[in-house]
Amino acid sequence: MNNNGGIPSRCWCGKGIVTYVSKTEENPYRRFFRCEIGLKRKKEQHLFKWVDEAVLDEIQRMDEQQSRFAEEIEDMRSSLKQIVEEEVIKHTNSGHVGCVGTILSLLCLCSKSD
Ligand SMILES: [Zn+2]
Repeated sequence: MNNNGGIPSRCWCGKGIVTYVSKTEENPYRRFFRCEIGLKRKKEQHLFKWVDEAVLDEIQRMDEQQSRFAEEIEDMRSSLKQIVEEEVIKHTNSGHVGCVGTILSLLCLCSKSD
């Protein structure tokens, strides 16, 4: 189980995670995730994670994910622009732009007729 992967859902042993509240003097009322088995078998290294640290991890992970998404969107946008430009060039060469030209001149005529 990766302990740095944000909010944990399961311990490496397969057991679910329970949230407890710390009663120690160093961390009073601080909430933590703990494997149920780990609580009984303290000698074994079962999952333990402070809730606040897990939430911070999660936020950081989402932040990284978001900037990755933003990059992907930017990539898509530029490739889409390229595709559109290529299509426009293709259509310009094959004479399809005549249609657009006709519409444009009609618009010109309409705006002048007053
Ligand atoms: Zn465990």
